[in-house]
Amino acid sequence: MLNPEDVVAKKDALIATAKRCFELRLQTNAGGNLSVRLDSRDAIVIKPSGVGFNECTRDNLQVVHLDGAIEPSEHKPSKDLDFHLDLYRIREGINAIVHCHSPWATGYTSAGMEIPCLTVQTIEKIGRMPLIPLSPVGGPQTEVEISPVFQDPKIRAAVLANHGTVGVGKTLMEAQYLVEIIEETAQIAYVRDTLLAARGLPTPDAPRLGTPQEVKAAVKAGALT
Ligand SMILES: [Zn+2]
Repeated sequence: MLNPEDVVAKKDALIATAKRCFELRLQTNAGGNLSVRLDSRDAIVIKPSGVGFNECTRDNLQVVHLDGAIEPSEHKPSKDLDFHLDLYRIREGINAIVHCHSPWATGYTSAGMEIPCLTVQTIEKIGRMPLIPLSPVGGPQTEVEISPVFQDPKIRAAVLANHGTVGVGKTLMEAQYLVEIIEETAQIAYVRDTLLAARGLPTPDAPRLGTPQEVKAAVKAGALT
Protein backbone atom coordinates (compact mmCIF):
# COMPACT_ATOMS: atom_id res chain seq x y z
CA MET A 1 0.00 0.00 0.00
CA LEU A 2 1.56 3.29 -1.10
CA ASN A 3 1.62 6.19 1.35
CA PRO A 4 1.06 9.33 -0.81
CA GLU A 5 2.90 11.58 1.67
CA ASP A 6 5.94 9.32 1.66
CA VAL A 7 5.88 9.15 -2.16
CA VAL A 8 5.94 12.97 -2.40
CA ALA A 9 8.68 13.26 0.25
CA LYS A 10 10.87 10.69 -1.53
CA LYS A 11 10.27 12.32 -4.93
CA ASP A 12 11.33 15.70 -3.52
CA ALA A 13 14.47 14.18 -1.98
CA LEU A 14 15.33 12.49 -5.28
CA ILE A 15 14.80 15.74 -7.23
CA ALA A 16 17.18 17.58 -4.84
CA THR A 17 19.86 14.89 -5.19
CA ALA A 18 19.52 14.83 -8.98
CA LYS A 19 19.93 18.62 -9.14
CA ARG A 20 23.04 18.43 -6.98
CA CYS A 21 24.54 15.78 -9.31
CA PHE A 22 23.76 17.95 -12.32
CA GLU A 23 25.21 21.10 -10.76
CA LEU A 24 28.39 19.25 -9.83
CA ARG A 25 28.63 17.99 -13.45
CA LEU A 26 28.52 14.40 -12.28
CA GLN A 27 25.70 13.79 -14.74
CA THR A 28 24.68 15.86 -17.76
CA ASN A 29 22.13 14.93 -20.48
CA ALA A 30 19.56 12.21 -19.76
CA GLY A 31 22.01 9.45 -18.78
CA GLY A 32 22.63 7.93 -15.36
CA ASN A 33 19.96 7.11 -12.85
CA LEU A 34 18.99 7.34 -9.22
CA SER A 35 16.33 5.80 -7.02
CA VAL A 36 15.15 5.68 -3.42
CA ARG A 37 13.22 3.08 -1.45
CA LEU A 38 9.83 4.01 0.02
CA ASP A 39 9.18 3.54 3.76
CA SER A 40 6.89 0.59 2.94
CA ARG A 41 10.15 -1.16 1.82
CA ASP A 42 8.49 -2.91 -1.16
CA ALA A 43 8.56 -0.10 -3.76
CA ILE A 44 10.92 2.62 -5.01
CA VAL A 45 10.87 6.01 -6.71
CA ILE A 46 13.13 6.08 -9.79
CA LYS A 47 13.97 8.41 -12.67
CA PRO A 48 12.45 7.12 -15.93
CA SER A 49 14.23 6.77 -19.28
CA GLY A 50 14.87 9.94 -21.30
CA VAL A 51 14.56 12.42 -18.40
CA GLY A 52 17.66 14.39 -17.37
CA PHE A 53 18.82 14.74 -13.77
CA ASN A 54 18.02 18.46 -14.00
CA GLU A 55 14.52 17.79 -15.37
CA CYS A 56 13.20 15.44 -12.67
CA THR A 57 9.78 16.51 -11.36
CA ARG A 58 7.10 15.02 -9.13
CA ASP A 59 5.15 14.30 -12.34
CA ASN A 60 7.77 12.39 -14.32
CA LEU A 61 9.37 10.26 -11.59
CA GLN A 62 8.08 6.70 -11.50
CA VAL A 63 6.98 4.48 -8.61
CA VAL A 64 7.93 0.85 -9.15
CA HIS A 65 7.22 -2.11 -6.89
CA LEU A 66 10.05 -4.51 -6.11
CA ASP A 67 8.22 -7.23 -8.08
CA GLY A 68 8.67 -5.01 -11.18
CA ALA A 69 5.10 -3.63 -11.41
CA ILE A 70 5.18 0.03 -12.48
CA GLU A 71 2.54 2.50 -11.29
CA PRO A 72 0.82 4.21 -14.29
CA SER A 73 3.29 6.54 -16.06
CA GLU A 74 3.62 8.20 -19.45
CA HIS A 75 7.35 7.52 -19.44
CA LYS A 76 9.40 4.54 -20.49
CA PRO A 77 11.06 2.72 -17.59
CA SER A 78 14.79 3.19 -17.21
CA LYS A 79 17.17 0.71 -18.80
CA ASP A 80 18.75 0.50 -15.34
CA LEU A 81 15.49 -0.42 -13.58
CA ASP A 82 16.29 -4.13 -13.25
CA PHE A 83 19.65 -3.63 -11.56
CA HIS A 84 18.20 -1.06 -9.16
CA LEU A 85 15.34 -3.43 -8.20
CA ASP A 86 17.77 -6.32 -7.80
CA LEU A 87 20.07 -4.43 -5.42
CA TYR A 88 17.09 -3.46 -3.22
CA ARG A 89 15.98 -7.12 -3.18
CA ILE A 90 19.38 -8.57 -2.27
CA ARG A 91 20.48 -5.91 0.27
CA GLU A 92 17.86 -4.94 2.87
CA GLY A 93 20.16 -2.14 4.08
CA ILE A 94 20.18 -0.35 0.72
CA ASN A 95 17.62 2.48 0.63
CA ALA A 96 19.09 4.56 -2.20
CA ILE A 97 21.17 4.13 -5.36
CA VAL A 98 22.93 6.83 -7.40
CA HIS A 99 24.44 5.91 -10.77
CA CYS A 100 26.31 8.59 -12.79
CA HIS A 101 28.43 8.76 -15.93
CA SER A 102 30.87 11.18 -14.30
CA PRO A 103 33.82 11.96 -16.60
CA TRP A 104 36.96 11.37 -14.48
CA ALA A 105 35.75 8.07 -13.10
CA THR A 106 34.44 6.92 -16.47
CA GLY A 107 37.81 7.79 -18.02
CA TYR A 108 39.47 5.36 -15.60
CA THR A 109 36.95 2.61 -16.27
CA SER A 110 37.30 3.12 -20.03
CA ALA A 111 41.03 2.47 -19.63
CA GLY A 112 40.07 -0.79 -17.91
CA MET A 113 41.53 0.42 -14.59
CA GLU A 114 40.14 0.26 -11.07
CA ILE A 115 40.26 3.66 -9.37
CA PRO A 116 42.78 3.32 -6.53
CA CYS A 117 41.46 4.07 -3.04
CA LEU A 118 44.39 6.35 -2.24
CA THR A 119 42.97 9.08 -0.03
CA VAL A 120 42.13 8.81 3.66
CA GLN A 121 38.49 9.54 2.91
CA THR A 122 38.23 6.90 0.18
CA ILE A 123 39.82 4.26 2.40
CA GLU A 124 37.47 5.10 5.26
CA LYS A 125 34.26 5.61 3.31
CA ILE A 126 34.59 3.11 0.47
CA GLY A 127 37.48 0.71 1.04
CA ARG A 128 37.33 -0.82 -2.42
CA MET A 129 35.37 -0.03 -5.56
CA PRO A 130 35.44 -3.02 -7.90
CA LEU A 131 35.52 -2.53 -11.67
CA ILE A 132 32.60 -4.36 -13.28
CA PRO A 133 33.18 -5.32 -16.95
CA LEU A 134 30.71 -4.68 -19.75
CA SER A 135 28.10 -7.34 -20.39
CA PRO A 136 29.70 -10.20 -22.38
CA VAL A 137 26.61 -10.29 -24.60
CA GLY A 138 27.22 -6.65 -25.58
CA GLY A 139 25.78 -3.47 -24.18
CA PRO A 140 26.00 -1.92 -20.74
CA GLN A 141 26.23 -3.78 -17.45
CA THR A 142 22.98 -5.27 -16.15
CA GLU A 143 21.94 -6.93 -12.90
CA VAL A 144 23.73 -10.07 -14.17
CA GLU A 145 27.11 -8.35 -13.82
CA ILE A 146 26.30 -5.82 -11.05
CA SER A 147 24.33 -7.84 -8.47
CA PRO A 148 27.02 -10.47 -7.69
CA VAL A 149 29.46 -7.67 -6.73
CA PHE A 150 26.94 -6.11 -4.34
CA GLN A 151 26.14 -9.48 -2.72
CA ASP A 152 29.13 -8.62 -0.53
CA PRO A 153 27.60 -6.38 2.18
CA LYS A 154 30.88 -4.47 2.53
CA ILE A 155 30.70 -3.15 -1.04
CA ARG A 156 29.19 0.35 -1.07
CA ALA A 157 30.45 1.55 -4.45
CA ALA A 158 31.55 0.14 -7.79
CA VAL A 159 32.62 1.44 -11.17
CA LEU A 160 31.30 0.18 -14.49
CA ALA A 161 33.75 -0.28 -17.37
CA ASN A 162 33.21 2.28 -20.18
CA HIS A 163 30.11 3.44 -18.35
CA GLY A 164 30.17 5.14 -14.92
CA THR A 165 29.81 4.82 -11.17
CA VAL A 166 27.38 3.29 -8.66
CA GLY A 167 27.01 4.32 -5.01
CA VAL A 168 24.52 2.76 -2.59
CA GLY A 169 23.49 3.94 0.86
CA LYS A 170 21.01 4.04 3.69
CA THR A 171 19.92 7.46 2.39
CA LEU A 172 20.07 9.32 -0.91
CA MET A 173 22.66 11.69 0.55
CA GLU A 174 24.88 8.79 1.56
CA ALA A 175 24.77 7.28 -1.95
CA GLN A 176 25.28 10.74 -3.47
CA TYR A 177 28.38 11.39 -1.32
CA LEU A 178 29.90 8.14 -2.58
CA VAL A 179 29.60 9.05 -6.27
CA GLU A 180 31.10 12.45 -5.41
CA ILE A 181 34.02 10.79 -3.59
CA ILE A 182 34.59 8.37 -6.50
CA GLU A 183 34.78 11.23 -9.00
CA GLU A 184 37.05 13.27 -6.73
CA THR A 185 39.31 10.25 -6.16
CA ALA A 186 39.61 9.57 -9.90
CA GLN A 187 40.75 13.16 -10.43
CA ILE A 188 43.25 12.97 -7.55
CA ALA A 189 44.59 9.61 -8.80
CA TYR A 190 45.06 11.06 -12.28
CA VAL A 191 47.06 14.00 -10.91
CA ARG A 192 49.18 11.69 -8.72
CA ASP A 193 49.89 9.24 -11.52
CA THR A 194 50.66 12.02 -14.03
CA LEU A 195 53.16 13.59 -11.62
CA LEU A 196 54.77 10.25 -10.80
CA ALA A 197 55.05 9.37 -14.51
CA ALA A 198 56.57 12.80 -15.31
CA ARG A 199 59.29 12.15 -12.74
CA GLY A 200 59.74 8.50 -13.64
CA LEU A 201 58.74 7.43 -10.14
CA PRO A 202 57.00 4.13 -9.29
CA THR A 203 53.41 4.04 -8.05
CA PRO A 204 53.42 3.68 -4.26
CA ASP A 205 51.42 0.96 -2.53
CA ALA A 206 48.02 2.02 -1.26
CA PRO A 207 48.29 3.47 2.25
CA ARG A 208 46.99 1.32 5.06
CA LEU A 209 45.10 3.09 7.82
CA GLY A 210 45.05 1.61 11.30
CA THR A 211 41.71 0.92 12.92
CA PRO A 212 40.72 3.30 15.75
CA GLN A 213 41.66 0.49 18.21
CA GLU A 214 45.11 0.13 16.63
CA VAL A 215 45.71 3.89 16.77
CA LYS A 216 44.63 3.98 20.43
CA ALA A 217 46.95 1.07 21.28
CA ALA A 218 49.86 2.75 19.47
CA VAL A 219 49.30 6.03 21.35
CA LYS A 220 49.16 4.11 24.63
CA ALA A 221 52.41 2.34 23.78
CA GLY A 222 54.05 5.67 23.04
CA ALA A 223 54.62 4.79 19.38
CA LEU A 224 53.18 8.07 18.13
CA THR A 225 54.82 10.47 20.58
ZN1 LIG B 1 24.39 4.35 -17.09
